[in-house]
Parts: sequence; structure tokens; C-alpha cells
Amino acid sequence: MSGDQMSKIYGLTGGIASGKTTVLDVFAENGCRIYNADEIAREVVKIGTPGLDQIVASFGDDILMSDGTLNRKNLSQIVFSDKKELKKLTDITAPLIRKRILQIVEEVHALNDGLIYIFEIPLLFETNYQPYFDAVISIFVQPEIQLSRLMKRNNIDEQTAKNQIDSQMPMEEKKKLADFVIDNSGDLAELKSEIKTLLKNL
Ligand code: ATP
Repeated sequence: MSGDQMSKIYGLTGGIASGKTTVLDVFAENGCRIYNADEIAREVVKIGTPGLDQIVASFGDDILMSDGTLNRKNLSQIVFSDKKELKKLTDITAPLIRKRILQIVEEVHALNDGLIYIFEIPLLFETNYQPYFDAVISIFVQPEIQLSRLMKRNNIDEQTAKNQIDSQMPMEEKKKLADFVIDNSGDLAELKSEIKTLLKNL
């Protein structure tokens, strides 16, 4: 094996407003290649995909815009008010997303270009993606800082923000399950220096 050239691919996760996007940007600035699961989720239901065809077969033409693309607003109205409809949707999309993510992981290993790849998956632990990665990185942030960043970014009141945070897997648990932890409680400069240090160990 050419140990020096081995590519490494890491899963990155964290709770709402923990800084996943910000952290991903910093990794990119440091020469890492980045992916995120939200992008994959959009890709698998693009116009012309089997994913979109399956959604239309299940939900009808009403969830399409006039240009044939997915009407996300209509679809989310349907699935957010009805758990059965939500399951119908995720039964279609989850396997497609998983297949595409696995394909990328395999491509990265086959490429073996010696680079570091970071794959952001918000629900990484909840959907059991740990085994596909060389290691998993969780973002931690002091709870009161997470709350205030979320309130500010989404322009919502404290109770609404708390409810959103409480509906997720606790950050402490994500921290315990992770191989590496990034503490994003400080300012951007601190985050940058923390990631530079982490990269020496990846
Ligand atoms: P979500 O999953 O909810 O989309 P996220 O985990 O991707 O969020 P970001 O969007 O990166 O989180 O960050 C949440 C908010 O906190 C943003 O407004 C961002 O600018 C701010 N933020 C993130 N990290 C820092 C930091 N180190 N210092 C100051 N503000 C920060």
C-alpha cells in the first residue's frame, strides 16, 4: 500500500446552527475537498432522475412545477403535516441518498490522491453513516451560544429556538460518539486555528 498517498474521507456532523457550513468552508480554505448531504439530497430528485419519477408516481403531478422540477414547497406542506406521507417520501429518497454517498466514498478511495475529504451529514449518527468513514468529526458549541446563534440567524424567539434544539440528538451525545470534536464556541479566528491543529492529526 502506498500509505503516503492514501486519501482519507471524514464524516462531519453537528446540531442545528452548530456551525457545520462555517466549518466546512474553513476545511475548504485549507485545501480539503468537501461534500454535503443536503446537496446530494437535491441531486437525487433533480429533473430526469429516477428519484423524481418515483416521487411523481407516489404523490402525483401536483408536486411538480410547470417546468417539471420538484415543487418543494408543496411537497413539504404534504409531508410536514402527515407522518405517513413523510415516510413515503423518505422511503424513496433515503436509499438513493445513501447509494450516492457510498458511491462518492468509493470513488475517493479509488482515486487515492492523498487529499482529505470532508463529508457533512447533519444526521450522520441518527442514520448510521459512521462505518463508511475513516473517522467522524462532531461540532460542539456551548449550549447558550448555539441558542443565541440560532435565534439570531433564523430571527426566531428563544422558545422556538429551544424547541428546535430539543428535537435533535443532544450535542453531548454527538460529542461522545465522535472520533474528533471541534469546539465552535469561540470566534472565527479561534475556529480557524482549531481546524488547522486538527488537520495535523487527520
Ligand atoms: P444549520 O444546520 O442550521 O444550517 P450550521 O450547522 O450549518 O447550521 P452555520 O450556518 O455554519 O451552522 O452557523 C450558524 C450561525 O452561526 C451562522 O449565522 C454563522 O454565521 C454563525 N457562526 C458559526 N460559527 C461561528 C463562529 N465561530 N463565530 C461567530 N458566529 C458563528
